[in-house]
This record gives sequence, structure tokens and C-alpha cells, in this order.
Amino acid sequence: SQSSKSTQQMIPVMICWVLAMIAGLSWARWWAVACTLATALAFLVTSTSALATWSGWLQLIVMVFSPWLLASQRRHHEHILKQLHAKEAKKSVHLGEAARSLLSVQHAAQALETHMTEITDVYHVTKETSRALHLTELFAASLDTAPRLLNVRGLRLIDLSGSAPRVLRASRAADGRMTGAPAQAELLEMEQAVVREALAADRASRSAARTFAGPLPEGLARVDWVPLWWEQRPIGALAVDELPDAQLKTLSIVGNQLSLQLSRIRLYEQVEALAVTDALTGLFVRRYFLERAQNELERSTRHGLACTLLMVDLDHFKQKNDTYGHLVGDVVLRDVAALLQRHLREIDLIARFGGEEFILLLIETSAEQAMPIAQRLRQLVEVHPIRAYDELLHQTISVGVAGFPEGAATLEALMEQADQALYAAKRAGRNRV
Ligand code: GH3
Ligand code: MG
Ligand code: MG
Repeated sequence: SQSSKSTQQMIPVMICWVLAMIAGLSWARWWAVACTLATALAFLVTSTSALATWSGWLQLIVMVFSPWLLASQRRHHEHILKQLHAKEAKKSVHLGEAARSLLSVQHAAQALETHMTEITDVYHVTKETSRALHLTELFAASLDTAPRLLNVRGLRLIDLSGSAPRVLRASRAADGRMTGAPAQAELLEMEQAVVREALAADRASRSAARTFAGPLPEGLARVDWVPLWWEQRPIGALAVDELPDAQLKTLSIVGNQLSLQLSRIRLYEQVEALAVTDALTGLFVRRYFLERAQNELERSTRHGLACTLLMVDLDHFKQKNDTYGHLVGDVVLRDVAALLQRHLREIDLIARFGGEEFILLLIETSAEQAMPIAQRLRQLVEVHPIRAYDELLHQTISVGVAGFPEGAATLEALMEQADQALYAAKRAGRNRV
């Protein structure tokens, strides 16, 4: 009965102690302190006699310290957890910064790429158009480059440098290539409006492409255009049909380059008007050739003589330029020119007609007599090895022949016919007359 009585006395102590343990494990600190004090108090009140033995003291010490031990362990773990959280937070801040800097690097790379594309665009336009010596060649070169840079349905190059405006039009064929139509003196209403705006455009906005705001020809939803300038004067305009919004800037770039090339062509024509020979090949320039050829035709008419016009074009010459570079291309051009000139008679005329085209007039020679001569020239070029820098190259030519007076009665008609014959030679496979 003694032991059951002491067990009953211990119940409040145990209850307080359990509460103190729970408080130490999960309640606020002051709860743990209060419950521990209550446990000690209950022990002192109910079991004063127990303090007479050392096991009683041990019991009291265990009851007081165990909640404290639990609480301190709990605090220690909470501290570690807090440190871990702080570390995590720091890491995620670093990660955020890294992600941000990655994003900015990506943006910079994108901007650089756009810039590179623009530079490449300029390079292509310049490369392809810089060889043109005459407006028609420039337009032909633009037809080659424009579809690669601009996704448009049609192209109009308006030339204002002459006495009356002229327009060269081209439209995209089914195969994606631009094909040009002959130059027209009659401008559509929309083209006339563009001309008026180009003439009124001020210097500040001269290189900016813009969308045409007036009424459009039937079947067109949108026309954009850019003025072309020479020195301070507007000398033309480039208009495109159905340009996507994103390419307005590219149109400005193309327009700028065309302006530069047009200026160069105008200068070349001015020089050509003064010069007799072409700087690269040493042959006559086109204008001088045409003057001399006109005289020859008149003389032939007077004396009832025949003469024959030859148009010569280098085959796949663009490929040579693209493969070996323009410097090598220039050597080939010069070599072929020299070869042709060497094998003509003194009285014959030969000139550089354009980029890689030559024009020849064989005096007092009928078309029939000219054919074997043309064949011989073609063979000579075919077998002639050309040393250009480190390259040993071969070149072939295609030739168009037109006889005077039986084929055509005027120089223009003669040239037109020779050109058509040249075109036929190209179509038939090249390296032929
Ligand atoms: P095709 O057989 O149909 O005549 O092919 P092609 O490549 O010769 O035809 P195209 O007329 O398209 O190319 C002519 C090229 O000649 C384009 C131009 O870059 C090049 N060219 C024109 N003038 C010069 C020049 O003075 N020097 C050099 N290196 N190349 C020129
Ligand atoms: Mg050619
Ligand atoms: Mg050509």
C-alpha cells in the first residue's frame, strides 16, 4: 500500500513532466520552462521525502533536464535548417543572376546575328551590283539579288536620270526567279505618284523605305518604295510589290546600295563619254564602239559592202567569280579580251559591251564568211589555258552572229538580232556559235 500511494503521488508529477517534454519538443520556450518548473514544484510538494535518497535527487534532475535537453536539440536542428534555407536562398539568387546574364548574352548574340545578316545582305547587294556598268546591267544584277533578300512579288526600278522617267519592271516567276520586262516609258498612275513623292522627298528621309499610301493598281495589296539618290538629287526609285513588314529595313539597305551603284554607273557613263578604252580590258568602250560601228555601217551602205556583228558572252562566268574571286575573274576577262583582239584584223572593231560581254564588228565580211571566224574564235578561247594567280583555268564563250545588211538594216536591229542569236547559243548549251 506504501508503493501504490507513492505511485498515486507521482501522477501529477508525471503529467507535468510529460507536458514539459511535449513543450520542449514542440511548444514555445516559456511553456517548456513553466512546465518544467511545475514538474519540479510537484515533485518537491509530493515527494519531499524522496530527496533524502540520491535516487530521488537523480529522478528530479532527470525530470528537470530532459525537457531542456529536448528543447535545446530542437533549437539546434532548427538552427541548422535555417542555415540550410539561407544557403538555398543564396544559391537561388545566384542562379537567378546567372539566368539573367545568360538571357542578356542571348539577346546580344541575337542582335549580333541580325547585324551580321544585315552586313551579309549589304555584301550580297554590293557584290552582285558593283560590276554593272550600265543601268540595264544594274537592273539585271538587282533581279538576281533582290529575290534572295526580299520576299516580294514584283520589282520596279524607276529611272529619273534621263529626260523622261523610265520604268523597268520585273515579276516573280513560278520558279521563284525574277524576270524582267523591257524598259517602259509609260508609267502607271501609282508609279507616277511614286516619282512625284521621290522628287519631293527631303534629304533626311531619303534612304528610308516607305509604304505607298495612294491607290494601288488592281491585284496589288501593298507597294513599298525607296528613293534613289545621286549627290543631292533624286535619280530614281525602287518599288516592290507585297513586301513583308519585317523586310522594310532590308529594302532601305538595298535602296542605299542601289543609289551608290547608280551614282557609280552615272560616273562611269560620264567617264565613258570622255574615254575611248575600257580600263580593265583595254578594249573600246561601248559608246565609242557604237559611234564607230555606225560610221562603218554607213560606209558599208555607200559602197554596197557587207559586215557582221558578233556578240560574245563568257559562259558561266559568275561561277568563276564565285569560286575563285573577282580578281581571278578580272584576269580571265582581260585574257579572253586580249585573245579575241589578237586574232582579229586591224580594221575590225571590238569593244567591251558590258560586264563580261564583248561586241565585235567584222568589216567587209558577210555573215557566211563570219561564221568560220566566229567558230575559230570560240575554239581559240576554249583551248587557251588562262593562268590567274595560282589558278590554271579554262573559259568558253558563246557567240551570236548577225549580218548586215541582209539580217538587219540598222545598228540597233543588228544588235538585237545578234543578242537573240547569243541567247539561242546559250540555250543550246553554251560554247557555241
Ligand atoms: P551565262 O553562261 O548564262 O552567261 O552565265 P554567266 O554566269 O556568265 O551569266 P551572268 O551574266 O549572270 O553573269 C555575269 C557575271 O559576270 C556577273 C558578274 O559578277 C560578272 N562580271 C561582270 N563584270 C565583271 C568584271 O568586270 N569583273 C569580274 N571579275 N566579273 C564581272
Ligand atoms: Mg556570261
Ligand atoms: Mg552576261
